[in-house]
Amino acid sequence: MKLPTMSKAILLQPDLVLGDTIINLTAEILQQYQIKGLVLDVDETLVPFNKTEASEELKQWVAQIRTIADIWLVSNNLSQTRIGNIAKSLDLPYIAGAQKPSRRRLKQAATAMNLSVEKVAMVGDRLFTDVLAGNRLGMFTILVEPMVDSAIATPSYTIRNFEVWLSQKLGVSLAGTHNNFTKKQQNQD
Ligand SMILES: [Mg+2]
Repeated sequence: MKLPTMSKAILLQPDLVLGDTIINLTAEILQQYQIKGLVLDVDETLVPFNKTEASEELKQWVAQIRTIADIWLVSNNLSQTRIGNIAKSLDLPYIAGAQKPSRRRLKQAATAMNLSVEKVAMVGDRLFTDVLAGNRLGMFTILVEPMVDSAIATPSYTIRNFEVWLSQKLGVSLAGTHNNFTKKQQNQD
């Protein structure tokens, strides 16, 4: 296996490791970093894989955050039905099949918001798609804990843990201001 060079590894470094689910990403935090727009991943950032609808808690979060920031959903999921229904229930614009870490769809969202990329945060649960895409474009990047149904261990969780492990080997620090992420990961080893 060929490892990325260090210059590429730094692109895996989130600007902020929240250490919690997106529900705990507050307006105060976004204002602290002068964020005016959000590009949100969908699967396991907003909605667990085994759910088809946004929770009431998430709807309330969106209602609050949209008063201070424009929001777009940008998902790699190819299902227009799944992502479209979630977007509709939250009354948010969306792009499915985005092919992150490609920058193209993130740039499209920032352009639609009429914001420069530094004012936009890419928020997601995955390093090699969400964080990498955001960093490649020059967005502020926020890693959140996945929104999972605690009763079900999804296969993606294993992949995510591998990404976390590999990133740390490459020198990425996941010990952020707002988190206990690293500690939680270690406890699962
Ligand atoms: Mg995700």
